[in-house]
Amino acid sequence: MSDCLFCEIAAGNIPADIVVEDEFVVAFRDIDPQAPTHVLVVPREHHNNVADLTRDNPELAARVLGVAAEVAQLETLEKGYRVVTNVGSDGGQSVNHVHFHVLGGRELAWPPG
Ligand code: 5GP
Ligand code: ZN
Repeated sequence: MSDCLFCEIAAGNIPADIVVEDEFVVAFRDIDPQAPTHVLVVPREHHNNVADLTRDNPELAARVLGVAAEVAQLETLEKGYRVVTNVGSDGGQSVNHVHFHVLGGRELAWPPG
């Protein structure tokens, strides 16, 4: 999808600060970080949200979560971290290409607002 921001980042057409990537998954720093570590993990393949991804390509969903864990290790988040995926307008999703936020480096409030 050429009009999708995260498809363009995953394809290398729009620059991003990439933390780790492989054939299927890209992890890059959020442009507006909400914690000392704030990395977005996305599949290269376009899926609108986690429900679509899991239904249409569960193996890829597992790969994305594996890379989220790898990011936590690379960022040395040994005290803990949070993996979040927002769905739809009530969920706060602003980019309709599934992405997992990896947040850490400080104590995170729970429950979220
Ligand atoms: P959502 O609100 O959909 O859960 O998360 C979208 C995230 O994408 C936001 O945290 C926002 O800061 C981030 N974002 C939006 N545009 C860009 C961009 O061009 N580059 C990067 N690296 N992050 C972006
Ligand atoms: Zn996309």
